[in-house]
Amino acid sequence: MAYAYDPTNIFARILRGEIPNNTVLETEHTLAFRDIAPQAPDHVLVIPKGPYATFDHFSNEASDAEILDFYRTAGQVCKMLGIEPGEGGMGFRAITNSGEHGVQDVPHFHMHILAGRVLGRMLS
Ligand code: ADP
Repeated sequence: MAYAYDPTNIFARILRGEIPNNTVLETEHTLAFRDIAPQAPDHVLVIPKGPYATFDHFSNEASDAEILDFYRTAGQVCKMLGIEPGEGGMGFRAITNSGEHGVQDVPHFHMHILAGRVLGRMLS
């Protein structure tokens, strides 16, 4: 079955410039911006610019260049926030919710980067 993508979702609208965002970093294929309802002192969303609905959609269908750019941008965001545990930062959580059971609200693939407080255990 082919992957479906709904171009009316809010992140697609952000990418089209129809609504504003608080950009942290933008590259050729990727945008990182602050979450509008932060769950931690630092809460950044990293999204591909391409039309991918979920983690698996992106992982299976994006080009090598898009995937490389996405992960390099996420890494750069960690550097910019100074949260890298390997570099003396206090660490972070990177998560992506996918589909109904993953409780994904916005159907455009995104990675949450949460930092700035102890996040507690969460595998429920
Ligand atoms: P959940 O809401 O369960 O975390 P998602 O993983 O789909 O579901 O996350 C969507 C995220 O997008 C939420 O953290 C929400 O606060 C954020 N968000 C929604 N609208 C905007 C917006 N206009 N700008 C920035 N972040 C947004």
